[in-house]
Amino acid sequence: MIANVDIKIEKTAHSRVSENDVNNVPFGKCFSDHMFIAEYADGKWQKSHIMPYQDMPMSYAMSALHYGQAIFEGMKAYKSESGEVSIFRPLENFKRLNKSAIRMAMPEVPEEIFMGGLVELLKLDAAWVPTSETGSLYIRPFLIATDEAIGVKASDTYKFVIITCPAGKYYSEPIKVLIETNYIRAVEGGVGFVKAAGNYGRSLYPTRLAQQKGYQQVIWTDGKTHSFLEESGTMNLMFVIGDTVVTPALSDTILDGITRRSVLALAREWGMKVEERKISIQEILDAHAKGEIKEAFGVGTAATIAPILGIGYQDHYMELPAVAGREFCNKVDETLRNIRKGKAEDKMGWMYKVN
Ligand SMILES: *Cc1c(COP(=O)(O)O)cnc(C)c1O
Repeated sequence: MIANVDIKIEKTAHSRVSENDVNNVPFGKCFSDHMFIAEYADGKWQKSHIMPYQDMPMSYAMSALHYGQAIFEGMKAYKSESGEVSIFRPLENFKRLNKSAIRMAMPEVPEEIFMGGLVELLKLDAAWVPTSETGSLYIRPFLIATDEAIGVKASDTYKFVIITCPAGKYYSEPIKVLIETNYIRAVEGGVGFVKAAGNYGRSLYPTRLAQQKGYQQVIWTDGKTHSFLEESGTMNLMFVIGDTVVTPALSDTILDGITRRSVLALAREWGMKVEERKISIQEILDAHAKGEIKEAFGVGTAATIAPILGIGYQDHYMELPAVAGREFCNKVDETLRNIRKGKAEDKMGWMYKVN
């Protein structure tokens, strides 16, 4: 499947890996030795390259910068105790990238370029994958419009790029979240279901306002009625209400998270009741008043599980049960960690071996 991609490989003359403690570097600022680039021009994908990590020569008129024709993905690679490197469900990221590409009028990336580039890059930079219990190599594939042109139109040229950075000990402090009923993240018919770069830019200001009120993140509500919960910041949102795992059903305003799907698959395998449906603010207020909300958490690649300590709504604050005693999310976190580190059987076939 991935054998027939022709990648020109230029290795670095001086690896930086020994200068960095990959288990302890700050997340997102230290990049591995190499990067992958495939260029699109003249209506087709051109040659692919792996080269030392470097800056991009570009025009200030580059179209991605002006109108946001830019999409991205995020996934992680893990190292087992015996040194094998595997990526968590990369084919799902490949499919989602192309879903995003279609919505943003960009060319789809062929599987042999996405997977071939990914595997070759990780083989070369395997020493950058952290070995710590909760460490991983964060992988950022992205596709950007590169025409030097100010006119508004779909670009004729693109770059598909993969860069990686170690995520040493990723730990997320439990967060307080504020239900946001003024600003919105996504609207029906919009781009909320894809990983478009602009979805993040627009979220920063409402998040800052919530932070000024003592919260770390917002819970987004639907754009029409502001009465149904959608996502938690940049993560999908889940509750355990009574004995049921409840999460908003997918729609074009909710991103189809791979962590979300994996958590639901585990819950179903464990015989738990799972409901994917609308969740209203009123339901959460009522369930909290009755003491039925056992857990609330965000799910996504960066943190896997981000426990929610409490939820604010207008002047009301709902304190939730202590995180240490939350059975479901703690069990999911541990199970996923063991599967990823090769310590538990990978029954679902989620790990994609690189070396
Ligand atoms: C990426 C993302 C998620 C989480 O998706 P994963 O595949 O689990 O990482 C959730 N919500 C939004 C808005 C996202 O962009």
